[in-house]
Amino acid sequence: MAERQRDYYEVLGVDRSATQEEIKRAYRRLARQCHPDVCDEPDAEARFKEINEAYQVLSDPEKRAMYDRFGHAGPGAMGYGFDFGFRDPFEIFEEVFGTGFGFRTTSRGPRRGADLRYDLRLTFEEAVFGCEKEIEVMRYEVCPYCKGSGAEPGTTPVRCSECNGTGQVRRVQRSILGSFVNITTCPACHGEGETIPIPCTKCGGARRVYMARKLSVTIPPGVDNGTQIRLGGEGEIGQRGGPRGNLYVVLEVEPHPIFQRRGDDILVELDINVAQAALGAQVKVPTLEGEEEITIAPGTQSDTIIRLRNKGVPRLKRNGRGDQLVLVRVVVPTRLTKEQKRLFQELEKTLEPAQVRKEKQGFLDELRELFGL
Ligand SMILES: [Zn+2]
Ligand SMILES: [Zn+2]
Repeated sequence: MAERQRDYYEVLGVDRSATQEEIKRAYRRLARQCHPDVCDEPDAEARFKEINEAYQVLSDPEKRAMYDRFGHAGPGAMGYGFDFGFRDPFEIFEEVFGTGFGFRTTSRGPRRGADLRYDLRLTFEEAVFGCEKEIEVMRYEVCPYCKGSGAEPGTTPVRCSECNGTGQVRRVQRSILGSFVNITTCPACHGEGETIPIPCTKCGGARRVYMARKLSVTIPPGVDNGTQIRLGGEGEIGQRGGPRGNLYVVLEVEPHPIFQRRGDDILVELDINVAQAALGAQVKVPTLEGEEEITIAPGTQSDTIIRLRNKGVPRLKRNGRGDQLVLVRVVVPTRLTKEQKRLFQELEKTLEPAQVRKEKQGFLDELRELFGL
């Protein structure tokens, strides 16, 4: 992903002239806020990682000087092959806060991969009837070239001589309180227990590569805007043998020119003329399965709803379907031919004159509210 990396000083919210103490204080405050064990924000893990990266660089005077001079690329961009050598953020957290803080402490154990999100646009019909979709997801895969060993094929990782393959180093420290054993992650292999003499040329020793992956998604009938489909184990790969995260496909449904969805019901508006309203008629309306003839009863008023049972959207993960609602509107002609005018004048003599309605009509407002018309 070619997203812009934020400035490390900006990440920690400190001045470029901040002292080591100020940097540590900023880190302590932010790391506690964003720790994925206490923060529910979806980007907590990413922010936690970012804060840790910033802290790892800025808290080390040498790395900080490099960063001030070369920025994120480090002098590696100039051909020196240097990188900042980031360590596991949970390990840093433990170092600063100590263990037993109530947060996860298994930083060297397997870690589940991150969840991914994919936004998928569907047509109205695809959402209603369901479909199969091919999607292409960018994610990390085990490097196919070195099969995840990180070593160039033909070579093998070797046991770390610094820690003897344990990933940890023990140091006896003496203080006025007596001596105690301090166990830390091996700095030579970053806790992996092995080092790679000749890194894989495809992944540079990272054991994984970022690549496009084709997946097929089954969309069940009845999904709507915002429906999420979970593909278990199709997220980012885990670390140190941890399981993959999940992939969430978030659906967006295109509007239809005729059909409007109201949950599992479908609403269609139908204009009829005054003669059809007064005399009744047989008219055709579109449904999800094609045209259907419906009966307009004699004396049908404007804003009448005709319900076509089980002609709506299949209910998601349940049996049955919604209904189709036909909202009938009586359209009064605005331009009359001479002949029509004569006929209406004839008719007018036989009809009731205008009169004030005796009871209030709340029904229409209710209807408008119900359908947002
Ligand atoms: Zn590789
Ligand atoms: Zn080691």
